[in-house]
Amino acid sequence: MLILVINAGSSSMKFQLMDSGKNFTTLVKGIVDRLGQEEQIYSDNKGHKETTKIESYSEALDYILKHFIKHNVIKSFQDIKAVGHRVVHGGEAYKKPTVITPKVLKTITELSSLAPLHNPPNIEGIKACKKVLPTIPQVAVFDTSFHQTMPEKAFLYALPLELYKKHNIRRYGFHGTSHTYVLQQALKILNKKNAKVITCHLGNGCSVTATRNGKSVDTSMGFTPLEGLMMGTRCGDLDPALPLALIKTLKTTPEKIDQLLNRESGLKGISGKYSDMRDIWATCKKDSKSKLAMEIYCYRIAKYIGAYAAALNGVDAIAFTAGIGENAWYVRKMVCDYLTFLGLALDKKKNLLNKPLITTPKSKVKVLVIPTNEEKEIAQETAKLLKNK
Ligand code: ADP
Repeated sequence: MLILVINAGSSSMKFQLMDSGKNFTTLVKGIVDRLGQEEQIYSDNKGHKETTKIESYSEALDYILKHFIKHNVIKSFQDIKAVGHRVVHGGEAYKKPTVITPKVLKTITELSSLAPLHNPPNIEGIKACKKVLPTIPQVAVFDTSFHQTMPEKAFLYALPLELYKKHNIRRYGFHGTSHTYVLQQALKILNKKNAKVITCHLGNGCSVTATRNGKSVDTSMGFTPLEGLMMGTRCGDLDPALPLALIKTLKTTPEKIDQLLNRESGLKGISGKYSDMRDIWATCKKDSKSKLAMEIYCYRIAKYIGAYAAALNGVDAIAFTAGIGENAWYVRKMVCDYLTFLGLALDKKKNLLNKPLITTPKSKVKVLVIPTNEEKEIAQETAKLLKNK
């Protein structure tokens, strides 16, 4: 069965066509970028790159599908049997992937107040599919749903409880699709279903999740994806009084502070230039600011892992994933150097080579490097859900 995975963002539509009959191999993946600007660019993993004029998300989808036909990936639109959508916020309503009905779409729309930047483009993607592929079933896979198993003590902020009850103010957590996928791979490697695993998604956005028995029990991102670890351009944890103090000190607006915390902080804020870990690494020997950015970044990951080892009362494995987690051996080394007190012993050579298991046989905690595959997870969930219907 051919499943189209759609990740519609504020200025782009990412797509991946997968064949569930062939272990979810990718037939083609790519992006229509610069939506809302003068010209749009289509590019895919087959080396095709075209500049075009597209006005809407449905035109983008139509363009993508016609491109598939032109290059003999499919014969007609009808060859696609299901669409799986990445949807950022499922609130408390969606604990699992869900077939999209008009009622579901309405609820996702209502949840936009919790994710004003993310849910609206996701909704545009869904509407585009309804228009272009009206008879094809669609499934929403939420970034938040994996974390719906967190207990109250982990998801509540120490604010007046009314705020949770009236306004749904709580920790939701994100990157759930990635944490789920990586955890499943980790449990296969460990061959232990009830393992205590801490998963670290380190990409442009970064988050850590504590899991037990295959379920999320705590996670570092909160009401929004700003909380927790230091990220490429996001600050992560800070004193909650700071944004208010900054508005006064800098004589500026909440919108500017939002921009500062989300786009001008993190690695970029400390280094003064670079949000990309590769640049930080390339310059940190001679540039003291890059070195400092690296130190803060790794120190904070280690602190979270320590806290989650306590939350879980032990840890069997730590899994690293996403752009930085999968590739930056130096980040993994700096983080693991803090954790020798757990009996963790890194195999330096395996770490350098990004091997799946990078600890020595004697290590009390296993450290894993697992490439994430959010699209595959979305396609698998979509296939599973539609099979059970
Ligand atoms: P996203 O969170 O947007 O999905 P990715 O998982 O692709 O992002 O991660 C992007 C980040 O991963 C980049 O900003 C870069 O810092 C880092 N990265 C990618 N490749 C490497 C590499 N080979 N070595 C170190 N860092 C890398």
